[in-house]
This record gives sequence, structure tokens and C-alpha cells, in this order.
Amino acid sequence: MDRESVNKLRIIELKKLIDDANYSYYTLDKPEIADSLYDSLYRELITIENDFPNLKTEDSPTNRLGGQISKGFSKVIHSIPLYSLDNAFSYKELKDWINKVKKILREKNQTEISNNFLIAELKIDGNAIALKYENGILKNAATRGDGKEGENITNNVKRIRSIPLKLRIKNPPKILEVRGEAFISNKSFKLINKEREVNNETLFANPRNACAGSLRQLDPKIVAKRNLDFFAYQVHYSEDFHNHKSYNYHSERLKFLKACGFRINDNSKLLKDFEELDKYCKFWEKERKNIDYETDGIVFKVNNIYLQKILGFTQKAPRWSIALKFPAEEVSTKIKDLSFQIGRSGAITPVANFEPVQLAGTIVSRATLHNFDRFEELNIHNHDTIVVRKAGEIIPEVVKVINKLRVKGSEKFLFPIVCPSCGENLQKNIKEAATRCVNKNCRSILIGQLKHWVSKPAMNIDGLGNKIIEQLFEAKLISNIYDIYNLNYTKLQSLERMGDKSISNLLLAIENSKTKSWDKKLYALGINHIGEVTAKNICSKFNSIDKLKKASLINPEMLESINGVGIEIVDALRNWFLDKNNITLIDNLISKGVNFDFNDNLFLQETNSNIHSKQFVITGKFQKFKRDQIVEKIEEQGGFVKSAISKSINHLIAGEKPGSKLDKAKKLDISIINELDFINFLKNEK
Ligand code: NAD
Repeated sequence: MDRESVNKLRIIELKKLIDDANYSYYTLDKPEIADSLYDSLYRELITIENDFPNLKTEDSPTNRLGGQISKGFSKVIHSIPLYSLDNAFSYKELKDWINKVKKILREKNQTEISNNFLIAELKIDGNAIALKYENGILKNAATRGDGKEGENITNNVKRIRSIPLKLRIKNPPKILEVRGEAFISNKSFKLINKEREVNNETLFANPRNACAGSLRQLDPKIVAKRNLDFFAYQVHYSEDFHNHKSYNYHSERLKFLKACGFRINDNSKLLKDFEELDKYCKFWEKERKNIDYETDGIVFKVNNIYLQKILGFTQKAPRWSIALKFPAEEVSTKIKDLSFQIGRSGAITPVANFEPVQLAGTIVSRATLHNFDRFEELNIHNHDTIVVRKAGEIIPEVVKVINKLRVKGSEKFLFPIVCPSCGENLQKNIKEAATRCVNKNCRSILIGQLKHWVSKPAMNIDGLGNKIIEQLFEAKLISNIYDIYNLNYTKLQSLERMGDKSISNLLLAIENSKTKSWDKKLYALGINHIGEVTAKNICSKFNSIDKLKKASLINPEMLESINGVGIEIVDALRNWFLDKNNITLIDNLISKGVNFDFNDNLFLQETNSNIHSKQFVITGKFQKFKRDQIVEKIEEQGGFVKSAISKSINHLIAGEKPGSKLDKAKKLDISIINELDFINFLKNEK
């Protein structure tokens, strides 16, 4: 198929998808997809239509504005269409638009482009309303509808308190048309949905949909109950406006609206230059989360009304205004291919590579599919359109595939059965989601382990960056962590671009790393599931690798009581210590002065040898302490309290009326101590 035929098909699919989304959003007030996803599909359609103008049809959603008129309301023909706004999705697009507008004006001999050329306003995420006042009295209110005709919602609008029924100025113009945004505050939205939940009614997806649904209620009392609000943002038309001072600037007109009794949004700002523009955008990108209404972007308008008139309108939007949308959290894009990364633990992570897109403020072109299970669930085919988002605003991930846009005959991507790095068969343990390469000599795993050891949160060896690690590995100068401590001047000198100074700095950094704390070293070993925090928790209970090894192999219950340690970590530690290669590695590292214990005497002094790492069972009643207090004291000193007697228990603390635990402890020959003994233990006396 040639490019044009491919795009023809794509256009048909996109149009269907966008039409369906429009129907759910505008008519049913129940959006099925995220706004940002809608925007990216819409953009794709515009791009193809611009590239192939002959493929653009009359019925394209890009020709249409808004939704359809609902039954039950009479129609109002707008004196001037209620337009949409063009969008910019990045600062670059915004700046391009500004330059374009200035160019058009210069071409029309408008050279007086003042400092306060642009005014910025918050883009309120509600519903556009057109109001008509005759001799200062509200006569008519309409929704945007399809842009040309709207629904007559006058009775409902009269229930919105921030819309004056009578203008508060003397000598109002004969005709005044005002446009603005009706909205529901976040607080009112929560109350509305709470009530609907109690009444078993379907919940509104967001305040905008709640507002749209309310404006189209046939019973105005419901509108009054839902506490709708309104920001006026435009004087649209006035028959005798020239009689009213010089309202030649949008900023002046906003003041006029305020004087008329409208609520206007006080956060608008005249912008002197790009610096102020940047500042305003950055401020509102964050601050919008602290206001009680939804805003989905910033609207920029040319402030001079005369210049606005010169610029005019396109088919859908004014040329003198643009909306900068806040960074999208979910966008669609097209798959290019998949790659499979091998982590230091051998886990294979599938990664999607796609057409670059703007996502939450940055351009992304790769996203994780996490693991085999997620890969299968997503069922990605080549050329698929996928939805990506930033998980926790940091790591991009693939959310779903848009099946409706799947190219016919496309093939499913397959998960590899052998390691892409070493060719060894991959293994999948049913207990975990990851598929792993278990070849201990796999190049990717070894390099991954080395990079992890030297990384910032681990041993933080300055000068051993990813590139140098790879160079040293390829030159066979290092293949495991121990080799790092065997590097010397001669070996390093053989690397390209390694001068004397870099070599001596690197050797010093390697030497210094030997004194890193025990928890950093444990983390650096890269044992599965042991992150920085868990490593810290483990090391505060076990002051050396020997003790940790013993507990892992003989006394795993001792590990389970550590904060954040579950069965997965207990298994991981056990398996790690069972591997002879790891024991050899530790011995070798110790021989080089890399010790795995607290080299800090303070800790040893503080450790209460009677309690630290010991397991206790408590039974009976005590005179001085409550049971909870004993538990607290033991845990404070690094000991553990268990509920049942077993061979691994070190001491039973028995009070009055001890019960069956005492008999069991005697049978197993377990040390039995009383409250006084325990107090001596606390004093670190036997
Ligand atoms: P829009 O909402 O992006 O922008 C135009 C509107 O902004 C105007 O009509 C006006 O009502 C409003 N606005 C708010 N504050 C303003 C201000 N200070 N000055 C001027 N105007 C202001 O465009 P649209 O055509 O109304 O709707 C299209 C958008 O609706 C899409 O970009 C998408 O985000 C959303 N949508 C979503 C779905 C979905 O399925 N999720 C479907 C259809 C549309």
C-alpha cells in the first residue's frame, strides 16, 4: 500500500474514534478517554489532513465545533459564532504562534506592537456561555452548541449567582453580548458526586461534565442546587460600545465587565516580554493545583481590539488568541519497535520505542512495558497506536493499545525465548512477573552489576562512569566487582584518553570507597529486591555480613521482623548466600580491605549484646512493666519478639501465671528469665 492509501485508512479510523469521543463528551457528558489523549488523536488527524488536503472530507471532525443541540431546548442563533481556540502544546509552539501573529501584523503595516501586546488568562475548564443583555437586562443565555447555534438555557443561567440579571452600571449599552465560562468548583463537585453516590446515581467524571450536565437540566431548581459559577472573559458585541469610554483594549473591557457586576478571573496579566510569559506559565503550571476550580491551560490574547479585528478568525478559532495546554499526562503515539533490556539481576524489561511525543513537559520516545506479564496483557502489534503516560510523573509507561486503530494484518511482537545479549535460554518463574537470563556470565548482567556497584547511591565511585566500565569490560580488565579493586596505574593507562590525573583521581576514589558504610555496600551488592531503605533496615539489625549470612541460611525468621522485609527478600538473601561465587566475591573483597560490617565503634558500644538480634517470647503478668513496654524495649535494642516457642527462641520472659509456654520452653531447654533478669539485660548486665 502506498503512503496515501495508508493515510486514507488512518483518517477513516481517526474520524470514527474522534466522532465517538465527541458524542460521549458533548452529548452524553461522559467522556470515554482522557482530554490529552483526545487532543493527540485530533492533532494526528489535522497533521494528515494538512499533508494530504485531498483526503480531508466535509464531515471531518476538524471542520466541526462542539457537539449537537439537545432536545428540550429551543435554539439560539449566535450573532457571531462561538469559536473554539487553537492549541499550543509547548512553549516552542506558543512562541512560533506569537512570531506568526507579529509577522501578519507587520505585513499589514501594523508596526506599533506595544510592550503589553499580549494578555494571559487562565483557561477555565467549564462550558462556554453566550449572554445577551438588552438595555442592561439579561434577555438570553445560550450554550455554544455547534458554534453557530446553541441551546437556549436562559432559565438555568438565571440561577447562577455570579451572572447579573441586571447590569450594575448607569446607562448600559442598548445591546451587550458577553461571553464567559460556567463552571463548578472542585468543592461543589465533590458534594454533588457524594449526593449522587448516596442516591445510587452514576457519578460525573469531572467538574466540567457535571457543569455541562447541569446546564442542560430541564429543571432550573437543580441548577440552583448545584452551585454553578461563572467567569466572564469577553465583551463580544455591543451596539453602542463607542459611547462607553475607550474600550479599545481587552484588559479595559475586563474591568468594564467587573463594573457591570460580573465575576472576572483576577489572575489575568498583561505581558511585557517572553521572560514574563515564561514566569506566568511556570507559576500557573504548579499553582493551578491550589485553586478551587479546574483550569486546563493558559489563554493568550492580543490585547488591542483593533489588532484583533485585523487578525480575524479562521474557520474554527480566532487568529488573535491561542491556548497553551498544560502538560499532558496521557498521549497517543505510534510504535516503531520494541527492545528488550537485561537488568543486573537478569530480569528482562520490554521497552516500547515510538514516535517522539510531548508528555508532561518533556519529549519522550521510549516507555517501559515492565515485564513479561504486562507485555502479554498489552498484546502489542507492529504499527500499533499506543497510549503512554508518565507514571508518578517520572517513568513513561505504556497504558494501553488503541485496538480500533490497529493496522489490518499487522503482526504481534513476540517476547524473546533466548537472552538478546548472550543467547542463553530465558527462564520464567511462575511466582514472579519477571523473565530472567540466568547465565552468570551474561555480558549485560555483569556490566549491569558493575555499573550498580559504582553508582551514586551505592559506592559512588567518581570517574567510573558507564562508558569507562564498558571500556574496561571490553578490554577484559574487569569482569566483576573484585576486579575494580585490582585496577592499577598500568592497567588504566592502556585505556584511551586516560591521562595521569584522571588515573590517580580514579584510583583514589576506588580506595576511598572501601570505607563506605555497611548498608551502602549491602545495597551495592545488588541482591534482588534490596533497595537503599531495606539495606539500611537490615544493617541496623545485623552489624556484619557474617551475621546476616547466618540468619539468612539458618534463622530466616529473624529477617522477617525487619521493616520492609518479606518472603521475597528472605528468599533472595538465602539464594544469594547459597551461591559459592558470592561467598568467594565477599572473601576476595575483604582481602582487599572492603569490609562488610559496621566499622563504627559507636554502634558496637550501643548494641546491647543481651538483646540485639535475640528472639524472645513473653508470657504471664509483670509488676514493673506492661507487656507492650517490654516489647518496645526489646525492639528498641534490636531484638525480636515472637508469639510462639520454638527452637530458635533465645529467652522466655516469664511473669506470674505463665501458662503452657513455660512448660514448652522447659521441654526445649530454652533459657527462662524473670522480670528482674530482663531489667539487668536492659542494663546490659547478665
Ligand atoms: P477548548 O476547550 O480546548 O478551548 C476553547 C474553549 O475554552 C472556549 O470555548 C471557552 O469556553 C474556553 N475558555 C476557558 N477560559 C477561557 C478564556 N479565559 N478565554 C477564552 N476562552 C476560554 O476547545 P473546545 O473546542 O471547547 O473543546 C475541545 C477540547 O475539549 C479538546 O481539546 C479536549 O480537551 C476536550 N474534548 C475531550 C473529549 C474527550 O473525549 N475527552 C472529547 C471532545 C473534546
